[in-house]
Formats: sequence, structure tokens, C-alpha cells
Amino acid sequence: MEPTELIAWRIEPALWGALLAMGWLAAYVALDMGRRIAGSTRPTGRLWLLGGALALGTGIWSNHFIGLIGEQPPLGIGYGGLRSLAAWCVAVGSAGFALTLAFGGRATLLRFGLAGAVLGIGAFAAEVLCFLDLSMAPALVWDPAWAADAVGAVAIGTAIACFIARRMNGKRGGITPGLVQAGAAVVLGASLAGAHRASALSAQLIDSAVSLNHLGAFTGNALSLLAAVGSVFLLGALLMLSVMESRLRAELQTAAGRIDDATHNDALTALPNRASFERRLELAAARADIENKSVALLFIGLDGFKPINDSFGRAVGDQLLGHAAQRLRGSVSRDDLVARVGGDEFAVLMAFDAEKTGVTALARRLMAVLHEPFELEGRHAQITASVGMVMYPLHGAHSTSLLHAEAAARSVKRSGGAACAFFEPHMVGGAREQLELLRDLRQAITHKQLELYYQPKIHAPSGQITGAEALMRWHHPTRGMVSPAIFIPVAERYGLINELGNWLIEDACRQVRLWRDAGLRMRVAINLSVQQLGQEDLVPRIRETLARYRIEPKQLTCEITESAAMDDTRATLAVIEQLVAAGVHLSIDDFGTGYSSLAYLRKLPAEELKIDRSFVLDLETSADARAVVDAVVQLAKALSLKVVAEGVETEQQQDILRKLGCDELQGYLFAKPMSANALLLWAMNDDGPRPIEFRDSLFQMTQPVAFH
Ligand code: C2E
Ligand code: CA
Ligand code: CA
Repeated sequence: MEPTELIAWRIEPALWGALLAMGWLAAYVALDMGRRIAGSTRPTGRLWLLGGALALGTGIWSNHFIGLIGEQPPLGIGYGGLRSLAAWCVAVGSAGFALTLAFGGRATLLRFGLAGAVLGIGAFAAEVLCFLDLSMAPALVWDPAWAADAVGAVAIGTAIACFIARRMNGKRGGITPGLVQAGAAVVLGASLAGAHRASALSAQLIDSAVSLNHLGAFTGNALSLLAAVGSVFLLGALLMLSVMESRLRAELQTAAGRIDDATHNDALTALPNRASFERRLELAAARADIENKSVALLFIGLDGFKPINDSFGRAVGDQLLGHAAQRLRGSVSRDDLVARVGGDEFAVLMAFDAEKTGVTALARRLMAVLHEPFELEGRHAQITASVGMVMYPLHGAHSTSLLHAEAAARSVKRSGGAACAFFEPHMVGGAREQLELLRDLRQAITHKQLELYYQPKIHAPSGQITGAEALMRWHHPTRGMVSPAIFIPVAERYGLINELGNWLIEDACRQVRLWRDAGLRMRVAINLSVQQLGQEDLVPRIRETLARYRIEPKQLTCEITESAAMDDTRATLAVIEQLVAAGVHLSIDDFGTGYSSLAYLRKLPAEELKIDRSFVLDLETSADARAVVDAVVQLAKALSLKVVAEGVETEQQQDILRKLGCDELQGYLFAKPMSANALLLWAMNDDGPRPIEFRDSLFQMTQPVAFH
């Protein structure tokens, strides 16, 4: 037998480029689709898997044909067809299996390795089938070493490519996912091209061999061209599908973002809208509660906007609103929130613990920037602003804060605009709201929605708690906690105050008794409204209740505001005298806000004066406030009255008040009003409501009070 010479299939150097390009394209599309498998629902994931498998399998398959363009044997080659078809199926099938392994589950190295092995074997099997389809005679001689190389190249290339595509995405700051994927495709594409070469080297030809199909339907070059062109089309189509899908997805995302924006932001000014303002307010209030701080909000209504809108047209009006929004944004600190809460209405939420002076300063600044002329299409326009200000918790529940600020702004507007004002209860305009409140208030007592909270009074020189002031709280079923600053005026106006007052007397005395039985001898102050002073049975009622609960009258103090005490001088004086005759103490509340004459004050059998909070608030900054407090203390001393300062919030205020000679202090610095049980716990177990309020001087001194 003649020695036969084995030769390898040759590849035109020029075709290497085509092989690499085909490999890269197939790898890129397959990786792109593979990437989507993970993020999709099951049915769509299957479609992406199918697409990826088609791309990768067809790429591998067509590489065989591209590689053999211009093949060597003198007679040329031809394919039988069936085995080539089977090769395509094997290539696509193994690609699908590999992609499932690589992208269908967790990104583990083991899965990547398995995917590589599957694809390596599949790709080589496809090559073998294609070579066999040539029906060479004599048959091809297979070189196992090159075969192993072919399998290994694809296995390693696949594993590396999957690793890059899955694990390195999102980890490299500047590189986009598209680039990472392209890089991974280079690795996989090169390994596919290399594997084809190794397969061709492994399928050795006997020098004289002929392809039995060389005259058949599928001659080598024709099929090769067909495969190459067809594959490129297929890959192109798949790529487009993938690109379109990601466009669509991006568009959907932007659209979703826009919808989201529209629900949170106002389209014209790009400021947050009312709903998102209210959400932020709620958060701020919750935080303020925890940190024992205040929140301030400003409601800004533009005065004179409507005439501009009407005479210059809507477009100009819109422009003005846009400019106004910008100016507001530019005039607040970065953490403050500016929102558009109505047509020509804005609101500002101050980010930091707010004080009245700071809030007023901001309001004035905003009024000033809005007052500067607007340049609107060559025309000057000037407006002013009415600003309503609200502090939470001072002015009531946060759910009403925005409404109250709005009411304050309206009230400013009614009296001419171009000014700012803090909310006051009488500003709550809507008769309907008032009536609703009234209707609910009527049921508050029977439905047990009222509760007395107690705020300790501190003996200034010693720091002892000497008593507590009862402050009414209304747990409204839907509005939450409604401030007495809101509902007391309503009750007064609509004749409900006596009913509330009677409940108050009963409940306060009941509580004194309960505390007493628990070992706490607490002096309690109650607030009497001016209407109650006109109530005929007030004094008998107090007397009777005290007796029923076996309480000495001197344990009870009645606080009457200065203005109430001044109201109807003769009648109130008579009631006050009866009260005092019954042994109850009398305190003049909110002192400094009314206009007591010294002569009248002298006639009042009061025991103490409570300096109004507004003076305490300004103590640190205003020499006037200090002078007033100083004068009140002197006056009180001259009349042998005790002086109580309310609303003490800072250490400095406390220092100043002590130095000026105040006898008692009350305020958030020591304690906020708290439930009766909380106060009892604090007194008996040193168990105050907040850790910051555990100040040694406070509870050391509480015990003697408790066990007197
Ligand atoms: P008021 O009698 O001047 O009570 C003091 C108010 O100041 C209370 O508000 C108290 O919680 C608050 N306060 C105490 N310390 C501080 C502080 O350090 N900082 C600040 N910012 N505020 C402090 P509240 O409980 O909202 O009561 C408001 C007003 O409602 C009372 O003013 C009083 O006039 C009236 N009120 C409350 N309860 C009753 C009641 O049972 N009957 C009557 N007739 N009026 C009541
Ligand atoms: Ca009071
Ligand atoms: Ca007061």
C-alpha cells in the first residue's frame, strides 16, 4: 500500500478576518441576549434564550463554511446536506444549553466552566458533522490532540467571556455595559475562530481524497457563501431585535420616570407639588417629634398675579410663575423645600429646627425677592406676596399645618397683602370646617376623646418640680391630635367651653386624687376661659368637686389670662374673689400681652403672674424683652406675687430667667406636656418620657415631692 500523506485543511489568510468577525458578531448577539435572560420573566426569558442560541449556534456553524471557502482538494467539495443540518441543530442546541448554564442562574464559576465545556464539545461535534457531510474518500483521519485543542479553546473562551459579561458589569466605574459586552464577545469570538481552525487541523485529509458530494446540490463554495450571508443576516436581525428591545425598554423607563415626576412635580415650575410637599412635611414632623424640635412652613400667595395673567395672557403669567419659582428656590437654603401648592401659591418647608424669628426673617426675604420687578417679554411687572407662617407643633397637628399657613396667608391678603403673619386660630376661615370641628367637638367628651396632659412647673432656685399645668388634648378620630389652640377658641365661640370646662374640673380633680393615692402630692393648675368666669355655678362646682375627691383647695391653681381677667372688670373680679375665698390659688396667665393697670392688678387676689411665652422667646436676642421681664419681676415682687416664666426652651433662657429672679419655670427645656401616667412614672421611678430630660436635678428633687 502506498504511503499516504496526511494534510490539513488550509485556510486562506484573508478569511481569518471573516472568521473573527463572524465569531465576534455571533458572540456579541448571544451575550446580549443572554444578559436579558436573567432580568426577564419566564416566557420572555425563553425567547431570549432561543435568540441567543440561534445566534451563537449559527455563528459556530457558519464558521465552518466560511473557513472552507476556497478549499483545497482539486475536485472541490460538496455537502450531502443532512449531516450539515444536524450540525446546525447540534450547534444551536449546545449553544442554548450553554447559555442556560451561563445566564439562567447564579453567576458562579462552576456554571461558567460547565457552559464552556458544553459549548466546546457542541461546537466540535458540529464541525465533525460538517466534515463528515463532505463524504471524503478515503475518509478523514482525526487528530485527537487538535480536537482537544478545539474543545478547550471554546470552553475557556466561553467561561472567560461569561465571567466578563456577568461579573464585571457594573463594577468598573467608567466602562459601559455595552463595552464590557463587546470585550467579552472578542474573547468568545476569537475562541470560536480558533476552534474552527483547530477542528480543521484535526480533520486530516489523505492527500488524494475526494469529496463524493462534489457534484451534488451543495457544492462547497456555494454553500459556504450561502451560510456566511445567511448567518450575517440572521445575526443582524437578532441584533436589531435586541437593540430595539433595549431602546423600547429605555423609553419605557423614561416614560415611567416622567409619569413619576408628574405625580410629584409641577410641570410648569419643576417644583414639587402639593402632594409631595405634604409627604415631606409629614416626615419632617415625625422627625421633629423624635428630636423634640420644631418645623416651620411658609405659605406664599402672590398678590396681583391674576390681573397680570388676565391682561398679559397666560403665557406671560406662566413665565412669571416660572421666574417666581426660581427666585424662591434661590433664596432658601439648599435643604429647605420649595413647592408649588396652588396656581399662584408656593410653600416652603424649613429644613432645620425653626424659631419664630428665623421664620419671619425668611418670610421677609422671600417677600423682598418677589417684590423685585419681573421682566416679561419686554414688560415690567411687579407683584407682592402674602405669607402665612406656621410652626409645628406650636400651631397644631402637622396634618393641618399647610391649611393653617394658607389661612394665615389669606388673612394677610384680606388685610391688604404684602405682609407676613403667623397663624392664629381665628384665621381658620372656612365656616364649614369650623362647623365640622364643632360637630366633632360636641361628641369629644362622650366619646372620651379628651385627655388632660400635664406639664411640670419647676421651682427655679432648687430645680424641683412643684406642680403641673393641665393642658387639654383632643384625640380626634381622623384629624389626629388637635391642639387646644384650635379647639378652645371654637368651643368658646360656640358655647361649648362650659361643658369642656366642667369636664376639665372633674378630670383634673380625679387625677389629683389618683396621684395622691399613688403617693404623689401634685399641685395642679387648670386654665379657665373667660366664658367660664361668667358661669354662675363655676365656684360651687369647683368647691363640690374638690370636696368630693378630698382635695385641699390650695392644691388647685386656676390660670386666667390677663385679658380674661381684664375683660369685664366687675363681674370677673367677683368670681375671682369667690374662687380665692374658696381657697383656690389664682394665676394670671399670658401676662404682658394685655394691658393691666397697676391699680387693677393690685386689686386682684392673685398669687402668681405667668410671663407670656413671647417675652421668653426673645430673651436672648432682645434687650427690650429682658427689660419687660425684669420690670414684671419687680412689679410682682412689689405686689408679693410669684413670677412664673412659661415656654422656656433653652439653657440660656433659663439662666437669664433665674438671674432676673423668676420663681418658677415651665417649658420644653424641662418637659413637654405629658400624660398623667407618664408624669407619675417619672416622679416615682425616675422614668421620664425622653432620655434627654433625665436631668439629675429634676428627678432627685422629684422624690420629696412624691412622698411629702
Ligand atoms: P397656655 O395656657 O399659655 O399654655 C401653654 C402652652 O404653651 C401649651 O400649649 C404648652 O404646651 C405650650 N408650651 C409649654 N412649654 C412650651 C415651650 O417651651 N415651648 C413652646 N413652644 N410651647 C410651650 P397647648 O397645650 O397647645 O395649649 C395652648 C393653649 O390652649 C393654652 O395656652 C391655653 O390657653 C389653652 N388651653 C389648653 N388647655 C386648656 C384648658 O383645659 N382649658 C382652657 N380654657 N384653655 C386651655
Ligand atoms: Ca396656662
Ligand atoms: Ca400662657
